[in-house]
Amino acid sequence: MASAQLNLNLNPDPDSEELRSIKRDVRFVAETVTAILENLPVQRRPLSDASKALHVRAVALRRNGYCPCCQRTPVCGIEGRLPAAEFDHWFGRHRNGVTETWLVCSDCNRRLENPEFKTEKRSCFDAYQAALRPFLVDGQSSMFH
Ligand SMILES: [Zn+2]
Repeated sequence: MASAQLNLNLNPDPDSEELRSIKRDVRFVAETVTAILENLPVQRRPLSDASKALHVRAVALRRNGYCPCCQRTPVCGIEGRLPAAEFDHWFGRHRNGVTETWLVCSDCNRRLENPEFKTEKRSCFDAYQAALRPFLVDGQSSMFH
């Protein structure tokens, strides 16, 4: 076999300075990559402007501007999002589709990090998504062009 032959022919001295230098380099690269990966957060994908506008519209018209999670805190008027409102990524930070997110108050957004609270609010999310559905009929963004 050619490759076996090649290996035998190369058969480098494991203690050679050259090989040790290569090993050091490889280790350095591996450690660097590991450090980069460990410090890399899962990218939080922001919502598109169309998705944001759709949520504002749906919450304003179908929830009277109140947070669809707690139904207590105003999150938007028809003119736009209030400063205390945040877009929550229900299914994870990288899933930013309009049917995977909602506009909630900052308090709810923070509490949704608690799995128990999130389970409790699942029905609210589903109800909101059902209310949102008619807004999607003509395609996610067509009504904003
Ligand atoms: Zn809320």
